[in-house]
Amino acid sequence: MKAMQIEDYGSASDLKLVEVTQPDFSEDQILIKVGAAGVNPVDTYIRSGTNNYKATFPHTPGSDGAGTIEAVGSQVKGFEVGQRVYFSRTLTGSSAEFAVCATTHAFPLSDSLSFVEGACLGIPYTTAHRALFGRAHAQAGNHVLIHGATGAVGIAAVQLALAAGMKVTASAGTDAGAELLTKQGVHCVIRHDEENHLAPYQSLETGFDVIIEMLANHNLDRDLKALAFGGTVAVIGNRGTVEINPRDLMAKDAAVVGVALANVKPNELKRIAQSMKPLFDKGVLKPIVRKEYSLTELPNAHKDILKSGALGNLVVTINA
Ligand code: NAP
Repeated sequence: MKAMQIEDYGSASDLKLVEVTQPDFSEDQILIKVGAAGVNPVDTYIRSGTNNYKATFPHTPGSDGAGTIEAVGSQVKGFEVGQRVYFSRTLTGSSAEFAVCATTHAFPLSDSLSFVEGACLGIPYTTAHRALFGRAHAQAGNHVLIHGATGAVGIAAVQLALAAGMKVTASAGTDAGAELLTKQGVHCVIRHDEENHLAPYQSLETGFDVIIEMLANHNLDRDLKALAFGGTVAVIGNRGTVEINPRDLMAKDAAVVGVALANVKPNELKRIAQSMKPLFDKGVLKPIVRKEYSLTELPNAHKDILKSGALGNLVVTINA
């Protein structure tokens, strides 16, 4: 089969198309014919060995994807050959024609979604759900800021928060991003590229109940000043260090919580997938695909995912 691989930690341009044997799978795993692979920032951290991420080599990048089950292990229950699924944390890498997955990390794909759309679900929607509901305990009626809402996780968080009846303020870094968020139906769009963008929210009356944060090293200090009483910042993304004044937390009984998808146990992954499925079926949740790449264009996708000016997900089409 064809796969994109890298021989050691390196740059996106070190990724090469190779012909390799179809991966073996064990009795409790499934083999998936990959329709499309989602590209996420973590794929680039693993490829380059940054942020303490490790890989074994040769490495086929890609955690996420969607496709059709090609074969199931002898002990697998609940999945059948030919079934459409989306998956995350594939064991062999999704930038390939076939990928092996644990049954704990594959979920039925809604008929209303293509493989390209399904490839956007694993990391982005699951992380957004975990952050909003599992960590920040956001509820209907809460005023929520999705701080960095134009990317894959941000758009998922916007859609989930709106579907749950929250008042959503969302931030973008470009005009095009702001337009995208307006079309998503958020209550207010703000610009995180403007220095004082959180100034109007720095009182208990105007502050946010929940902030879902995509770049904490830039924003955490300002976030704490823009919380309502008892508010919570859920940190999803961070690329450095930041100085805060803990008094901003004390004065408001506020909390900062971390979110790491890797910590979510299989039972909760399943519960999250089950709770989102009807919303995908009805089209209430709908991934925004910014750009599709061929398998050999994966290096470009790895470069593009780290550029500013996000407008949804980047996806590699394989057997779509
Ligand atoms: P993405 O698609 O590349 O989007 C990045 C987002 O960050 C865009 O909305 C971008 O907005 C925004 N951003 C840029 N500068 C910002 C600023 N100063 N303030 C606020 N937002 C800013 O990435 P993603 O997949 O959504 O992931 C977002 C982050 O979360 C990444 O760092 C990723 O590694 C991390 N992540 C963590 C987990 C976890 O388990 N903790 C899971 C998934 C992702 P503009 O481009 O419009 O400026």
